[in-house]
Amino acid sequence: MNISKQMVTLNQDIAGQEIGIPVYDIDCGQPNCKTVYIQSAVHAAEMQGSAVIYHLIRKLKALKLNANFVLVPNCNPFGRTQRAGEYLQGRFDATTGNNWNRFYHFDNEIVGRFISEFDEQLADWSEKQIVDKFRLFLLDSLNNKLNKDWGVNTAQFLNIKLQEMASKADMVLDLHTGPSSTRHIYSPEFLTEEAQWFNIETVLSIPIEFAGALDEASFTPWYRLKQALKQRGLDFDYHVDAFTIELGSQENICLAQASDDANGVIQYLAKKGLVEGQENITPKTVAVVPLSNYKTLFSQHAGMVEYIKKAGDKVQKGDVLARVLNSLEFDNDSAIVNIHAPQSGTVILHYPSAAVQVGTQLYKIAVES
Ligand SMILES: [Zn+2]
Repeated sequence: MNISKQMVTLNQDIAGQEIGIPVYDIDCGQPNCKTVYIQSAVHAAEMQGSAVIYHLIRKLKALKLNANFVLVPNCNPFGRTQRAGEYLQGRFDATTGNNWNRFYHFDNEIVGRFISEFDEQLADWSEKQIVDKFRLFLLDSLNNKLNKDWGVNTAQFLNIKLQEMASKADMVLDLHTGPSSTRHIYSPEFLTEEAQWFNIETVLSIPIEFAGALDEASFTPWYRLKQALKQRGLDFDYHVDAFTIELGSQENICLAQASDDANGVIQYLAKKGLVEGQENITPKTVAVVPLSNYKTLFSQHAGMVEYIKKAGDKVQKGDVLARVLNSLEFDNDSAIVNIHAPQSGTVILHYPSAAVQVGTQLYKIAVES
């Protein structure tokens, strides 16, 4: 294998100093092999994935590779430099409020255009020919989006530049964390069996729809293409494996856990035949939860909150999740309001701050059916 790295400039300060992202290319040396794209920290405060990429590079060196890799740690050169007090601003562009993970490009018409342009040839083409042609279509669509005369906003620019790299890959992993969170993974419905190979306790099964994130932008066009070709009686099995993986809590890295996280990723790669030579890892019990069972509890009170139930805890309906303290009521019995679990389930994450207002996303819970 051969590793090369480069700094790709996406940002600069007002004095013209270039600010880049590190991009590691690993070439397995085999012809016609698949490509795996992995990025971390597009939400800049969510840094555990960067520690995972560190371990991946070290571990891949010891394995036989049947795929090429493009690895992009700390892929957001805008968010990376925006601090609010002691913390990275993180999920949102501090200037515009845009979520850094909602401006990937999806062209709703692309499958229809592709099929009408190549209607005559499709039946004669091999699967590989169709994949190659459609990938060019996707890249062209991204290029058009960037080059339009009026420009794009910062989050769009960042997302499309990253998507240009991801679009060349057969497998896309976008590494995130929650706020105060346990590990969980978003998987498209058709990959929930395979998603369990990552050895992460909760798999959230999401519908094949585009809502702005990189995983959706990566698997949705290929899934739609498959459906459209099927309607024409053509078998087409290719799809892009794309997942968003949430690796614990923001503003935190743990190198020991990152090694375990990397082992889960490698197990997935090994099961897919993309690497060989990994030792067995201890399997965890994995629950697959439909997105409709992943519930947000919004705070109905303002105040200072003590989180009693933590990420990963099992809760029963009616359990006290948290206590909210209101300093205008200290002289009577209403100073503390208990927040109860509306349903039984597993706490996946809670809000990171003790200061909450009405409508704050206090908890996210994977509830039992
Ligand atoms: Zn995130």
